Amino acid sequence: MTAAGAWVCPACGTSYPPSATPPSSCAICEDERQWVPPAGQRWATTVELAQSGHRSELREVEPGLLGIGVEPELGVGHRALLVQTPAGNVLWDPPAFVDEQAIEAVRELGGVRAVSSSHPHMYGAIVEWSHAFDAAILLPEADVPWLMRPDPAVRAYSGALAVVPGVTLVQCGGHFPGSAVLHWSAGAAGAGVLCSGDTIFVTPGEDRVTFLWSAPNRLPLPEREVRGVADAVEPYPFDRIYGGWWEPVVRGDAKRVFERSAERYVEILRGELTARG
Ligand SMILES: [Zn+2]
Ligand SMILES: [Zn+2]
Repeated sequence: MTAAGAWVCPACGTSYPPSATPPSSCAICEDERQWVPPAGQRWATTVELAQSGHRSELREVEPGLLGIGVEPELGVGHRALLVQTPAGNVLWDPPAFVDEQAIEAVRELGGVRAVSSSHPHMYGAIVEWSHAFDAAILLPEADVPWLMRPDPAVRAYSGALAVVPGVTLVQCGGHFPGSAVLHWSAGAAGAGVLCSGDTIFVTPGEDRVTFLWSAPNRLPLPEREVRGVADAVEPYPFDRIYGGWWEPVVRGDAKRVFERSAERYVEILRGELTARG
């Protein structure tokens, strides 16, 4: 981390390069999928965030999967997941702030070989993590322009990318053209896990998932895009889905839950509103 600290937009959690003065506006907030606070754009450096009490929060999510959040929440309030494998660890969806105890905890677990995110609202401190561990930043080519803090460690991919044995990034599209999920084959005791950010939203009852082009602005995802997400994940076995937050989680039977939810979503887009149980 630099002494000055990167600029963070607290409303969306996007990081911008360290500089004497903050950016003039936040391109992520001004995009139709997000929102500018009615009181106007604000900025904080990572140093100021630490001074105001922000801390990383670590929790084991399941064996081999460490969650790394931030308290108090920043931006969309998501947490990262560190997928641990014998061939190296992959960090997914980092929030905008990370402290030294989180970096040290991850170092003890073997560090980070590569860092990636589901989409631009969850890029967060991706560059800080890369610098701390000399880790590659893996981003879908379609969304690279949304990384507001360009870095030479970025490696673009398209479609699916096997990062280490058992961990695959899968570009699904939808919310963003590069919206992706991470498939972890050893997760859920070997039944397979999807880490979905908000490419696939888990709903509060943990028995459905949904799709949105914009969550805060309640804009739905068109049928063609929903089908694109379904086609992209179809080849991968999974029994559990972790969205971008600590909860909710689809804890079991997730593939069936996903397929049923996608089918129902398309029915409703087409106007079939008769309620089903
Ligand atoms: Zn913003
Ligand atoms: Zn988002």
